[in-house]
Amino acid sequence: MDPALGPPDAMAEKRDELTPMMRQYHDLCARYDDAIVLFQVGDFYETFCGAAERSARLLEIALTSREDSTGEYPMAGIPIDNAESYIEDLLEAGYRVAVADQVEEPGETSGVVERAVTRVITPGTLTEDELLASDDNNFVAAVARGRGVDTRPADDELALALLDVSTGDFLATSSAATEAIADEVSRFAPAEAVVGPNAPADVLPDDCMVTPFDEHVFDRERAAAILSEYFGEPDALLASDAEIRACGALLAYAEYARGGEHEGETGDGERNGDDETEENARGIGDSDRLEYLTHLTRYDPREYLLLDAVALRSLELFEPRAVNGRDDATLVGVLDETACALGGRTLRDWLRRPLLESHRIEARLDAVEELTGSVQTREHCHELLRDVYDLERLIGRISRERANARDLRSLRDTLAVVPEIRSQLADADCDRLRDLHENLDPLANVRELIDDAVVSDPPIEITEGGIIAEGYDSDLDELRGTARDGKQWIDDLEARERERTGIDSLKVGYNSVHGYYIEVTNPNLDAVPENYQRRQTLKNSERFVTPELKEREDEIVGAEERADEREYELFCAVRSDIGGEVERVQGLADALATLDALVSLATVAAQYDYCRPEILDPESEQTNSGVEIDITGGRHPVVERTQESFVPNGAQFDSEQRLAVITGPNMSGKSTYMRQVAQIVLLAQVGSFVPAESARLTPVERIFTRVGASDDIAGGRSTFMVEMDELATILRDADERSLVLLDEVGRGTSTADGLAIAQAITEHLHDVVDATTLFATHHHPLTELADDLPEAFTLHFEVEQTDGEVVFQHEIEPGAATGSYGVEVATAAGVPEDVVDRSRELVDANAAAETTAETEPTADGGTSELESTETAPVPDSVAAELRDLNVGHMTPVEALTELDRLQRLLEEES
Ligand code: ADP
Ligand code: MG
Repeated sequence: MDPALGPPDAMAEKRDELTPMMRQYHDLCARYDDAIVLFQVGDFYETFCGAAERSARLLEIALTSREDSTGEYPMAGIPIDNAESYIEDLLEAGYRVAVADQVEEPGETSGVVERAVTRVITPGTLTEDELLASDDNNFVAAVARGRGVDTRPADDELALALLDVSTGDFLATSSAATEAIADEVSRFAPAEAVVGPNAPADVLPDDCMVTPFDEHVFDRERAAAILSEYFGEPDALLASDAEIRACGALLAYAEYARGGEHEGETGDGERNGDDETEENARGIGDSDRLEYLTHLTRYDPREYLLLDAVALRSLELFEPRAVNGRDDATLVGVLDETACALGGRTLRDWLRRPLLESHRIEARLDAVEELTGSVQTREHCHELLRDVYDLERLIGRISRERANARDLRSLRDTLAVVPEIRSQLADADCDRLRDLHENLDPLANVRELIDDAVVSDPPIEITEGGIIAEGYDSDLDELRGTARDGKQWIDDLEARERERTGIDSLKVGYNSVHGYYIEVTNPNLDAVPENYQRRQTLKNSERFVTPELKEREDEIVGAEERADEREYELFCAVRSDIGGEVERVQGLADALATLDALVSLATVAAQYDYCRPEILDPESEQTNSGVEIDITGGRHPVVERTQESFVPNGAQFDSEQRLAVITGPNMSGKSTYMRQVAQIVLLAQVGSFVPAESARLTPVERIFTRVGASDDIAGGRSTFMVEMDELATILRDADERSLVLLDEVGRGTSTADGLAIAQAITEHLHDVVDATTLFATHHHPLTELADDLPEAFTLHFEVEQTDGEVVFQHEIEPGAATGSYGVEVATAAGVPEDVVDRSRELVDANAAAETTAETEPTADGGTSELESTETAPVPDSVAAELRDLNVGHMTPVEALTELDRLQRLLEEES
């Protein structure tokens, strides 16, 4: 067990002897034993013993100690005022944090100040704006096993629930295939997960924190009970038993993590499942309800273009591929021109889940087209959307009673621009924009309420007054009147007393210790009247009060205190009234987010000269059951932004031309070309315009990528194993609605094996899978194979040589490449001249030795595959066996064993 967690041994062994404060600390550590407890002592959060040593090292803060009659304890503290940045570091180091605040004023109690955990902060349940990326969701997940929809054997279905606690986004899906759930996890990249009994934790990536939580929350009955409190009958909403378990458990966890977050509540922290009794099964009271969780969306993974972790990475959706790549070298980087956080998150969601159904794609495209055409509307909307606050998180805070008066003013300011945004869409033509016009609800009542109730520039604190506007509440106005009158009386006092006493230098003043006083300088003390009472003697003067002055003062202070209390009461009432409109605010947020994302797509389309793709409906093309892709003048959306002059290239695929074998020297543009085709398809399915002169395509259901050793920087497993693993997935799962990119496959092993595998794969994809495939390879014999397979064809990149210099054309052409120009590329890359010369010699010698063969000295110094095939022709028997290999049904190890056997056979026969 991590010594930073749980009650410190030094305290546990003598708990009953500890001082009351240290006993409190001990007990909180015992109750929240999976978190570092931050224990408020005055202006600091302290940690002790193991937690102190750990925090001191991690946060680079001083390790001190606290000594009392029972011993000496290591101690490290962080100032409460900037606790957030330290908490962030603790989370990053993989800890959960339980914040134990003083929940009584030190003056109010004779004994030790009461402390309670008011928040449990974990990576997946953050709600603090400071700790969250504004333009991305932060998900916590639950994975559960359960019964499937139909009559399959028990517990064969796996469900995934995802919740963003800060925004209220709540999703669920399920599948009988573990890999399908792993793929969905990759899409949403949850920061944390709770895992149910028997559910596999290995569907979660390494950087996802797995939180142990009471397994009973995954019980069917209990999960259904909590779900129905929020969303009504769960069976009507969710598709399976497994989904109910996952969603119910996740809700329970979200309520737990909320802690006693509500202001002033002394969270009892008893919710950690383990201690719960059966009668109090959930141990959760009504006040814990997260009112802003109003929607739970169930989806089927098959409703969206499937992108697994490998494809997400190699198509650079969210993360640059290069280790130190620029952040904007991603698809989201080039597409994100959103104006507000709401739109940023929606755009990311669209990219994460490209659509399949053409009518849904067309609906977005219609809106993008209309906005692309209307510069004024687009730019105006963009400007207005910049003033839109993060309404989703704002209403979440309001609903959780964590919002202050400034938050309410931010809501009001956002509502104030809504009518203007709305009027921009008054003449919209397409359905999508007309719907948005409809849904942009300006919530006039909420805006009026805030305008009436809250002053325009309120303080951050909500308990110290200065928040509620004049005229909103007569009681408050009266209290303020009393305070004002009293102050006026005091303001007038100086003049009155000067006149009465004849002392011209008499002054009325105020200090925080003595309150109001009358000050008279020493030479005038003779003239002080009877009713003055001496309070303070200074060097040159004396200070007095009068009974009347004190009476007035008490009146003012009393009225002010009551006014502050009244203000707080009123503020809470206003906040909770607005909380009652949570669904309308969320509806508005949704409309603003959609508009922002559409405007962003239109802005990029107009600025970078994208075209509207024509989407073919696979259902309506009876003659043509597969995928058709017809792109002219396509560009790579990311590379074209950094490349001075990008050369556009087209792509044509249909049922007769389905598999392209692409050759060309290194650096000629093969990888770029393949990714560009996939990204154009993906963008089209997002509903975006695409970087091309024209594009016509059938939506694909899944994009597979396999990027070869030379282009892959992922370390760890043996490259060859990774390659075979990914290939196995492709060969097993791809079908005629898939787009497959294979980049330099077969590099992780010797050239002969590599060629054999590449060839077998090509045949399998062509004959069995029928997927639309782009295969970049340095195995030239594959181009000959492509000539033999009816639906395969060849493409290549050419380079030109002038005066020994290599010039890359980056232009795709039909047919196979003639050479690899490896030596010339080496020159261009600055390899020393003598090495280059020697290489040329060797190339020439090899060429002379083989009159019939094209040679390809590969960049890594390997010899040509053709050389080996030509010098030792493959006997028919071996070739036949090779051809019949069903690679798709083999494990990598079986494939290796088989290859080894074939190699031996080859040696025997030749
Ligand atoms: P290959 O996979 O054939 O080795 P890449 O696709 O990695 O080549 O391309 C190498 C470099 O060439 C890229 O980094 C890019 O800078 C440039 N490049 C690729 N395609 C084009 C193009 N169509 N127009 C301009 N430059 C390109
Ligand atoms: Mg490449």
